[in-house]
Amino acid sequence: MFENLSARLSGVVKTLSGNARLTESNIKDALREIRIALLEADVALPVVKQFVDTIREEALGEKVVGSLTPGQALVGVVNDKLTELMGGFNDKLNLSAVPPAIILMAGLQGAGKTTTVGKLAKRLKEAEKKKVLVVSCDVYRPAAIEQLKTLAKSLDIECFPSSVEEKPEAIALAAVDYAKKHYFDVLLVDTAGRLTIDEYMMQEIKNLHQTLNPVETLFVVDAMLGQDAVNTAKAFNDTLNLTGVILTKMDGDARGGAALSIRQVTGKPIKFIGVSEKVAGLEPFYPDRMASRILGMGDILSLIEEVQGNVDEVEAKKLMEKVKKGKGFDLNDFKMQFEQMNNMGGMGKILDKLPGNIAEKAPQVINDKMIKKNVAIIDSMTSEERRKPDLLKASRKRRIALGSGTSVQEVNQLLKQYEQVSQMMKKFSGGGIFKMMKNFKH
Ligand code: GDP
Repeated sequence: MFENLSARLSGVVKTLSGNARLTESNIKDALREIRIALLEADVALPVVKQFVDTIREEALGEKVVGSLTPGQALVGVVNDKLTELMGGFNDKLNLSAVPPAIILMAGLQGAGKTTTVGKLAKRLKEAEKKKVLVVSCDVYRPAAIEQLKTLAKSLDIECFPSSVEEKPEAIALAAVDYAKKHYFDVLLVDTAGRLTIDEYMMQEIKNLHQTLNPVETLFVVDAMLGQDAVNTAKAFNDTLNLTGVILTKMDGDARGGAALSIRQVTGKPIKFIGVSEKVAGLEPFYPDRMASRILGMGDILSLIEEVQGNVDEVEAKKLMEKVKKGKGFDLNDFKMQFEQMNNMGGMGKILDKLPGNIAEKAPQVINDKMIKKNVAIIDSMTSEERRKPDLLKASRKRRIALGSGTSVQEVNQLLKQYEQVSQMMKKFSGGGIFKMMKNFKH
């Protein structure tokens, strides 16, 4: 996401940071670049104009001019304003209602509502330990009801039954009643969407909203729609008084404009972003982190959170105990670390969040192909060999290379890396790089 915008803006950051002095001409160049970058990213024109005006004002202000490193100071201003533009801080879901906390999902057809209901339900159940009920009020598309039912089943979440013969409000009220009787904490209500905004649909969702009086009314919108996303958000906001927005498909080639202008235009916070088709692909939206990412300064905090979410606590603890007891770090442990990288969506996803200068160098050292190869090599070893890598002499290495479709040289390379990591582990006696990263946060 944001590739072009990020490339252009991190270019501006590089130039400004490199300049000891700010002159009228390099400020002008930077402002022009920022303007073009935002327009290309499909940010709404009035938003671009206001943004560039604010930066211009600040560039001439005391904070920048009076600074010892004005270039850096201006980069700081751009970062701050970008963060502000996207809402400033992460706005959490409000679940503080008498249970069930009702969350109404609104949006056009294909925006990703049903998928997002599944993602949110999973998140609330796993991360917040909530008892969640979902229900579909889309009485026009039996397939939509079926889709939610299947999704909920795969997540082991209860889905309140509904059918196309019923009225949306009747379904919703019955679901609320059921949720109360069975002590559900949260009720997620999926609704019908149309391909475009139409009066009938708006009236229907307005009625549902009035009947349910939800604590959250979230507008789900496809980020790839660009400026159109902002227009639809505005129309829904005028009708429904939204409490938040979820931008989906941020993993696609969304230019990012919607993320930048939607807050400004609707005044409503982006609470989450959808970053994959999979149920795990939902992230809380942090404007500050997103701004740093766009400016090529990386998003280490999100990466750490992801690591925390993906590391198997039990495994990490076991490993730590083992190393502490002097039992050493063997090739099984080494393989587990590669697998954890894979669980996080591979190196591509990880690199995406690292600052540009580090990410540029990293692919030469480590990439997905290498991870797969290393796992294959370790898989071709016997369990004794994995526990005692010293056994690996020439003939065994040849057998392993053959078994894994690699060469003896590649087997040697893996063993060398293993040796290095093993040394490092002894030094830290922690639980591998992931454990080190976990500690880093505290
Ligand atoms: P609805 O009509 O609003 O309920 O939309 P759906 O939930 O059926 O989603 C429409 C399509 O968008 C499906 O193919 C989803 O898999 C896809 N989709 C939803 N969210 C995301 C996302 O964050 N990333 C990607 N890549 N696809 C998504």
